[in-house]
Amino acid sequence: MHYITLDLEWNQAYAQKALAVQRQLSCRLRGEVIQIGAVKLDKNMNVCGSYQIIVKPKYFKKLHRHVSELTGITQQQMDMGTPLDEAAERFRKWCGKDYAFLTWGPDDIPMLRENLNAHGISQDWLGEVYDLQRIFNTRTDGLAKQRSLEYAMDYFDIQQTLPAHDALNDAYFTALVAMRLDVPDAIKTYTSVHGEFLEEGVIGDADAGDDGYVTIDEMLTDDIVKNPTCPLCRARLKEKGEPLHSKGQKYTFYFDCPKDGDMLITLRLHRNFNDTWRAKRTVKPADEASLKSYREGLIKHESFKKKSTRKRRYRSSKNKKETVAAG
Ligand SMILES: [Zn+2]
Repeated sequence: MHYITLDLEWNQAYAQKALAVQRQLSCRLRGEVIQIGAVKLDKNMNVCGSYQIIVKPKYFKKLHRHVSELTGITQQQMDMGTPLDEAAERFRKWCGKDYAFLTWGPDDIPMLRENLNAHGISQDWLGEVYDLQRIFNTRTDGLAKQRSLEYAMDYFDIQQTLPAHDALNDAYFTALVAMRLDVPDAIKTYTSVHGEFLEEGVIGDADAGDDGYVTIDEMLTDDIVKNPTCPLCRARLKEKGEPLHSKGQKYTFYFDCPKDGDMLITLRLHRNFNDTWRAKRTVKPADEASLKSYREGLIKHESFKKKSTRKRRYRSSKNKKETVAAG
């Protein structure tokens, strides 16, 4: 088993261009990978290889000024790069057979997936991925902060001997940090779920190939929202209170599992790139503090409803119009 620290640099698209390309491809593409850097570690966490390739973008061919300043990559280097299908194939071969990726933060693998998807290249070789930033947190102070790679290097007294924001250099520094964490042990207990949540995920995610929800009502009447199951024992949960709709398109549901107790399920709604809805969905045990804010939210909501009774007729007809326009 090898561990591969992976870092990518990608070219940002100018906003209008990004929208046009995403519509044309009908999939998400926020940027195009222009450099892949990776360092291979053996099972004893010794460096045993490195990989670097400059990738020639297909859709966002003009190097964004900000990216150029940050990475030092030039338009000419990018133009002479290897097309993604060939670069990905070479990289996959270099990775070998039995490996797990380590990345600093959660962004690189989704960006690589997005790129492979947009180019119609298989993603099944991406396999096991661990966020080393999260492992660093659990092995140091246990806080869920997004620490920079520089912070972790400082923490372990690793000298910044090479320029940052070069994919290979960053992959190398990530490897040096990985060597100081007991990665083989950490991944035994690794979970992609944050500490306080029993379950965490996205529903209606157009980036992941889902259609998304055309209306909010469609989402709220979906089985996963209306008839959820317990993340622990998979029993059907029973609704214990009315749903709370709070500011910023957040919905909270109060449910109960006969075996595992009270739970609060939260949806935070966002627009997909194609204007449908998705939601970040979390399930957590209903502790006193979160139940208190849920109940206070309901009371606030009640008093708001009473105050606005006189305007209700006007509001509901206005809402209807908005719904039609949004649909
Ligand atoms: Zn249960």
